[in-house]
Amino acid sequence: MYEIIGKAARQVKILTFDIETRPNLAYTWGLWDQNISLAQLVEPGSVFAFAAKWYDERKIRFHSDHTDGHAAMVLAAWQLLDEADIVVHYNGKNFDVKHLNREFVLAGLTPPSPYKQVDLLQVARSQFRFQSNKLDHVASQLGLGGKTSHTGFQLWIDCMAGDAKAWRLMERYNRQDVRLTEALYDRLRPWIRSHPHIGMWTGKPDACPGCGQVGPHEYTGLYRTLHQAYDWYKCRNCGTAIRGTTKLHDPIKNRQAA
Ligand SMILES: [Zn+2]
Repeated sequence: MYEIIGKAARQVKILTFDIETRPNLAYTWGLWDQNISLAQLVEPGSVFAFAAKWYDERKIRFHSDHTDGHAAMVLAAWQLLDEADIVVHYNGKNFDVKHLNREFVLAGLTPPSPYKQVDLLQVARSQFRFQSNKLDHVASQLGLGGKTSHTGFQLWIDCMAGDAKAWRLMERYNRQDVRLTEALYDRLRPWIRSHPHIGMWTGKPDACPGCGQVGPHEYTGLYRTLHQAYDWYKCRNCGTAIRGTTKLHDPIKNRQAA
């Protein structure tokens, strides 16, 4: 596991996040291959729970329609995102963040302060070819554990009916997803190409972008882009490849000078 180095983990506020939604309720004429019009929609789905964890804390937070009431749950999510510098999730760019933004605008809230996103589904898709990109599969292949097993769709029906036992299972399931997502974040750290540079928060420009480890890093040689060359290093803590800041060869600049 390639964790973020000591103090750096506290200087940047990293929030791992996962939401659970309730399904749309609609009238349908059949069971297979349905095209449901808006007129058939009885009640649109919504976010009904979320779990979240700050990187430097052990505790995992959980809020839901059941424990907090919908409005307070939405506000709790907004406050956490508003405080976060980096948000880590699995498919959150397309799913969690957009669902939450809809809840925010419906509640009359303004956008939370800007944060960077690290979507581990995008990392899994772009870097590897696992047989499935489901969180459960990727995490269990890497020996990080799996998702909490549950009673399938019945769990959602029971939760919507306000069943306290079902909600306890939903909470366990949701918390475990956050635990898995953060473990995967630590495991995949050197593979995350566009991680926001941790040095921006620690004030250490030579820090490893991925984990905050300060130099000297291990020198691995020259790397040439299409037009320039740079020194390259490898982080001694997490193995992230780090590009030197000085352009060592710039043919375009040389041509202008000639
Ligand atoms: Zn590193």
